[in-house]
Amino acid sequence: MREDGPAALDWVADYLERVRELPVLARVAPGEARTSLPAQPPECGVPFAEVLQDLEEKLLPGVTHWQSPRFFAYFANTGSEPAILAEMLAAGLDQVGILWRTSPALQELEDVTTTWLAELLGLPPGWHGQLEQGASQATLAALAAARESRPGFVLASEQAHSSVDRACKLLGLELRKIPVDGEFRLRPDALDLDGASAVVATVGTTSTTSVDPVAEIAEACSRAGVWLHVDAAYAGCAVVCPELRWAFDGIEGADSLVVNPHKWLLVTQGCSAFWTRRPEALRAAFSVVPEYLRTTDEVVSHSEYGVELGRGFRALKLWTVLRCYGREGLQEVIRRGIRLAELFEAWVRDEPGWELCAPRPFSVVCFRLEGSDEENQALLARVNASGKVFLSGTTLDGRFVLRLAVGNARTEEEDVRLAWDVLREEARC
Ligand code: PLP
Repeated sequence: MREDGPAALDWVADYLERVRELPVLARVAPGEARTSLPAQPPECGVPFAEVLQDLEEKLLPGVTHWQSPRFFAYFANTGSEPAILAEMLAAGLDQVGILWRTSPALQELEDVTTTWLAELLGLPPGWHGQLEQGASQATLAALAAARESRPGFVLASEQAHSSVDRACKLLGLELRKIPVDGEFRLRPDALDLDGASAVVATVGTTSTTSVDPVAEIAEACSRAGVWLHVDAAYAGCAVVCPELRWAFDGIEGADSLVVNPHKWLLVTQGCSAFWTRRPEALRAAFSVVPEYLRTTDEVVSHSEYGVELGRGFRALKLWTVLRCYGREGLQEVIRRGIRLAELFEAWVRDEPGWELCAPRPFSVVCFRLEGSDEENQALLARVNASGKVFLSGTTLDGRFVLRLAVGNARTEEEDVRLAWDVLREEARC
């Protein structure tokens, strides 16, 4: 550890220093990463240094650099330095949270960090919080609890994330899609709750980051006795800024909520905060305690409220990030991301031949070159093949549009400027 540890840490530090210059989207063909490695497992062990060398030479070419400040696709994220180090500490402890007693610190740090985060986001006090691997898992848990409370179908807007479709598929629930208004928000007038089990509202939809009218939906759900789950995987992070609290108007009426610190709050992958004000419904849906796990502990284990039995020490990385950045540090990252997106939006707005395709409440800009879908798709392919930046696309109102998502904390104005220069250059080709 004492020899290899510093070498691994140096490798990561060097990587973060040079990542801006690496081709953002991996340039390998399918199978190339696999065939760069032996087909057979090793008979004898090798020194760790050889693993590091293979990581550099054989695997790195097959890495798409999510840590690059020039990564603008999907929802860009950041594995911050404190989170990276906390991952190592958590690995050193290698906790398995199957029961409270198998790691009281793990379970109670989840309580503390989800309570801290709830306070940072202005959520009502007293909700049960825990950390899941991802929003997909949290939404699955929420809909299982809703089904347990009251069977029926699920409603979500046509802009809701595919994790809702998947959760319904797994749970054998019918999903009814609700149309959206001109700004891609769920239309509450189209909600028919008769026979419904749950509604999923989205705060920050994946394509355009539109915000469904949670207050109005919550009122309707409360009248009908229908579970309201709010998917705020990306945009919930922004609510650490008081000027963005409006996105959570009416949140007190939700039955459950998911926000992903691994999306826009500087935590490495695998950290999704999930709250419910009805923990007993979750427990009813999930609790199975076999004989070998029965204890006299007075504390109910988090594993009784979700899919996982053995959970990792995710709370350590969230705790570390919250402590190292504080409310102010997190707010600064969100505000910088939004300011850069605003800048890009203004460049597109002012450039003849380009159009903005959706309102921009946060740090994602939807835009396109005037012309056909095929031209825009070809443009995106050329931009990404340049290796200089990486963007993604989506379909809005039946048309293909490009998305620029600012979300990496290391992104500077020069990186966004480069994206715009590459786009305009490739558009002329
Ligand atoms: N919900 C929304 C709105 C998303 O955009 C995404 C992913 O981008 C998810 C859920 C799924 O998140 P996860 O990958 O954490 O399961």
